[in-house]
Parts: sequence; C-alpha cells; structure tokens
Amino acid sequence: MRILVTGGAGFLGSHLCDRLLKDGNEVICIDNLFTGRKSNIAHLRDNPHFEFVRHDVIDPFKYEVEQIYNLACPASPPHYQFNPIKTTKTSVMGAINCLGLAKRVRARVFQASTSEVYGDPEIHPQPESYWGHVNPIGRRSCYDEGKRCAETLFFDYHRENKVDIRVVRIFNTYGPRMHPNDGRVVSNFIVQALKGEDITIYGDGLQTRSFCYVDDLIEGFVRLMNQTQTVGPMNIGNPGEFTMLQLAELTLKLVGGKSKIVHKPLPADDPKQRRPDITLAKSVLNWAPTVELEEGLQRTIEYFKTQV
Ligand code: NAD
Ligand code: UDP
Repeated sequence: MRILVTGGAGFLGSHLCDRLLKDGNEVICIDNLFTGRKSNIAHLRDNPHFEFVRHDVIDPFKYEVEQIYNLACPASPPHYQFNPIKTTKTSVMGAINCLGLAKRVRARVFQASTSEVYGDPEIHPQPESYWGHVNPIGRRSCYDEGKRCAETLFFDYHRENKVDIRVVRIFNTYGPRMHPNDGRVVSNFIVQALKGEDITIYGDGLQTRSFCYVDDLIEGFVRLMNQTQTVGPMNIGNPGEFTMLQLAELTLKLVGGKSKIVHKPLPADDPKQRRPDITLAKSVLNWAPTVELEEGLQRTIEYFKTQV
C-alpha cells in the first residue's frame, strides 16, 4: 500500500514509518520538524520506498494514498504550550486536511488521539465510554480540546461522508528517539540521571501514569488500522500504573549515579491518575502490551546514552 504518515519525523511517527516499510509498504512522511528531527528518519533517506516532505498540516496537501496516519502534533506539555494557538490549529486543521484528503481519495484515515481527552479523570481506570473531565480554558486545553475536536471531526466525517476512520487513544508512551529536551517525564528523568543532575519531580510525586513501550504501541496501531470490526475510539496503553516517585526511583536504580530527587511546583491541571482500560483492544485486536516498564526503561536508557 501507499501510506501517508503526518508527524512521521517525530518519536512515534518515525517508529511507525519503520514498521510500515518493514511490512512492505510505500511511505510518504510529512512533518514541519517542530518537535521532530531529520535524524529520526536519517536511516530511511536512501530507501526508495520512503519519501520525506517538509510541510505543515495546517495547509492542505494532496497525495494518492490508501491509508493516512495522522500523528502531527507536539505531544509534550512544554512544547504544546509554547504556541498554544498553533497547537489547536495543528490538531483541528490537521484533522480537517487529513479527512478531506481521505474523503477525496477514499483512503482509510487514522487519528492519534490521546488519554488527555479524559482530562483529570474521575473514573479509574478509564474505559473508552468515559467522556472525561477536561478544563476547557486552562494551559493544557489547547492540546486536550484540540484533540477532542479532532475526534469530533473524525466521527462527523464518518457519519456524514462515510469516511473510513480509525481513532486510537494513546496513553503515555516512551522509548528510543524521544527528544532529549522533550520535557516529558521519562526522557527528563533518564537524561537527568545520566548527567548526574537532580531528578525533578513535579508536586509530591504521588500522581500516577501508565507507561507503554513504543514497540507495543506501534503493534496496536497497525492492528487497529487493519481490522474492520471497530472504528474506535480505542485505548492503547500499558495498564501498569506507577507514581512519579516510583518512576524516579526505578530510573535511578537502572542508571546508577548520584542524582538526588528534588521537588518542583506541580503544573496547573496536571492529571492525578491515569490508567487505560484495555478490554476493547484485548478483545478486538487480541492485543496486550508485552514490555514491562523496567525492560523498556533499560532499552530507552541505552538509547539516551548515545545522545547525552
Ligand atoms: P513528537 O512531538 O515527537 O511528534 C510529533 C510530530 O509532529 C513531530 O515530528 C512534529 O515536528 C510534527 N508536527 C507538529 N506540528 C506539526 C504541524 N503543524 N505540521 C506538520 N508536522 C507537525 O510526539 P510523539 O510522542 O511522537 O506524538 C505523536 C502523536 O501521538 C501526536 O499526535 C501526539 O499527540 C500523540 N500522542 C502521543 C503520546 C505519547 O505518549 N507519546 C500520547 C498521546 C498521544
Ligand atoms: N513530571 C515530573 N517531572 C518532570 C516531568 C514531568 O514529575 O520532569 C510529571 C508531570 O507533572 C506529570 C507526569 O510527570 O504528572 C507525566 O508528565 P508528562 O509531561 O510526561 O506527561 P502528561 O502529563 O502529559 O501525562
């Protein structure tokens, strides 16, 4: 198949491009390189089945493709809050442009949505049926509401125009090719530990997240995209739940060194807990994560040793 990946030079996008090429597809990757890097796809430069185009998804694009994966959007809070209006535009205009193209060329289109649509959840763990608890006017809203609006657009194009959609809700995912200055917790802790700097825990560190290793996530993406039983939304994530304090201690144990844990102010609207209910992915995709946090962290640490 010929497949378009938006945000393909980013952390997840570059792993997805690798996987799609490995499966024998042609891949066109479009990315404005805001948080993505050419180095993430440098190994694909001479692959005749891969094409990179520097392009911003808020502007329309046209390619004859059979599938579209829409991943373009900064995902780390410091990066998506850097220019919040642009973040909303990226989510909303990016979705409209992908859906318009999918309608025109009759492609199947996949939206990388997020557990952030659940906000600071009052139901735990979070099933897809939960509508969420989101602040519409806070610092995280550009991302959360942008992604929620993108889901709305996907389902309206599906109902109104019969566009063939798939929507995944991704829970915190980590692994090689995260940017060393990405700002998300796993990369921050590993880079700090490797440099012997203080480990920065925001707040008391008792807030929880569930961390999925990138290879498990990409397997879930491809299975969701290529089945016809459901369009989603579908949670993909690892239900193993950890406090940030536990993550810091595990990172320190694996990296070694002399870093100390320090506490910094908790950012506004930081969700207190997050854990996916993956019943749907298990039953429809026969999917479950296979990489435990300790093993995935070890692999990610090996990667960051080559970067810092
Ligand atoms: P990332 O920042 O590494 O990748 C995002 C990519 O999109 C980058 O390459 C960036 O340059 C590109 N991009 C941003 N704005 C763009 C624009 N206007 N036009 C074209 N390209 C643009 O982050 P990631 O972790 O790889 O996230 C990929 C997708 O998955 C995002 O849509 C994100 O919201 C979603 N997601 C990720 C996670 C996670 O834990 N990694 C969790 C939930 C959702
Ligand atoms: N966090 C932290 N120290 C850091 C970066 C993040 O304690 O250096 C916390 C953050 O406040 C949040 C959790 O780790 O509670 C996950 O943050 P991240 O930005 O990775 O993802 P998100 O909040 O979007 O789930």
